[in-house]
Amino acid sequence: MMVRVCVVGAGIVGLSTAINIQRLIPAAQITIIANKFGNDTTSAGAGGLFRPNLGHIKGVPIDTLKRWSKISWQHFSSLALSSEASSSGNNVTNGFVLQDTEEPQFLNEVIFSYHKLSRDELQRLNSNQKHGYNITTVITEPKKYLPWLMRKYKEHGGQVVFRTLTSLEELCGQYDVVANCCGLNAKYLIGDESIYPIRGQLIRMRAPWIRGFYYIEHDGYSTYAVPHADYMILGGCRQEGNFSEEIDPALTEDILRRGKEKIPGLEGAKVIDEWAGLRPTRIPIRVEKESMKLGSRTLKVVHNYGHGANGISLSWATAVDAAQMVNELVDSSSHSKL
Ligand SMILES: Cc1cc2nc3c(=O)[nH]c(=O)nc-3n(C[C@H](O)[C@H](O)[C@H](O)COP(=O)(O)OP(=O)(O)OC[C@H]3O[C@@H](n4cnc5c(N)ncnc54)[C@H](O)[C@@H]3O)c2cc1C
Repeated sequence: MMVRVCVVGAGIVGLSTAINIQRLIPAAQITIIANKFGNDTTSAGAGGLFRPNLGHIKGVPIDTLKRWSKISWQHFSSLALSSEASSSGNNVTNGFVLQDTEEPQFLNEVIFSYHKLSRDELQRLNSNQKHGYNITTVITEPKKYLPWLMRKYKEHGGQVVFRTLTSLEELCGQYDVVANCCGLNAKYLIGDESIYPIRGQLIRMRAPWIRGFYYIEHDGYSTYAVPHADYMILGGCRQEGNFSEEIDPALTEDILRRGKEKIPGLEGAKVIDEWAGLRPTRIPIRVEKESMKLGSRTLKVVHNYGHGANGISLSWATAVDAAQMVNELVDSSSHSKL
């Protein structure tokens, strides 16, 4: 029997979920439905630094978070070490995380290397921050990784439909299972009031001499520089509940001021363009199956959304879990038809 699966969403979460379903259920006929693709998605604008951190991921049990981090790390680090590093946009990188207050974390159990900085080392960096670590991790460039994922998906027969859904009810009777990876739009598509935006704004700059990343948490701000192959990303901000995707010029000035103050060597960097995006945040991230009552009908749904500031890092692992749930729902349907 042909299994029909629909994935709603073509951001990093939807594409990763679709590919994992293809791997787990090779006979499934999969269709991605989305109204934004590639560079139009939130995913495309992200810095893509692999650094799952407890401060930004709330409500996920620590064991689950460690498991997700390790599964995702295995995926992204393998790509970064493979012949597909360049085509998939995954690169090994080294840099500094500097903080006013030390936050609990578990990165030392996951990434390539982790070194806590001594007071003396912090002074040699001219840093006023009291805590810091030097890490070797992976940067995933979403503008390269998203097309790479799409290519893999299509190579394995995946279908794509450009369409705006107003309700998942529109999919009843068309598909056996739906994977809902609609990001922030879960607020409107399924009425989830617990999802909210944390707005970010960043500046793409030409600064090829800055090779490593900096992530500096100071005075309640996060100021960061993340080098991609063709430009460097300078950020940022975390504005909870702000839905605006317009550039705020005063914030641009503020990010540049903080950048020049905190990021070594930024002087002389030229602005290329700017971007504002909304981190789809939910406590906890929702990876869950549900039989949804929609009007008089029922739809089997696996939700996978609400990844907040860590949606690049955790995308692969939550997709592995979501695909497993889709498989369980497909199994239960085939048994109930016996
Ligand atoms: C400034 C900034 C910096 C970031 N930096 C990092 C970082 O360094 N590391 C990291 O791990 N994460 C980072 N993130 C977070 C990351 O970008 C997000 O968590 C992630 O992109 C969410 O992916 P998604 O696929 O859930 O959502 P999206 O990329 O928003 O995709 C949602 C998809 O759902 C579709 N959709 C929604 N509603 C409908 C509908 N009604 N009908 C049809 N289609 C629909 C859309 O068309 C789209 O295709 C950053 C985010 C921002 C804003």
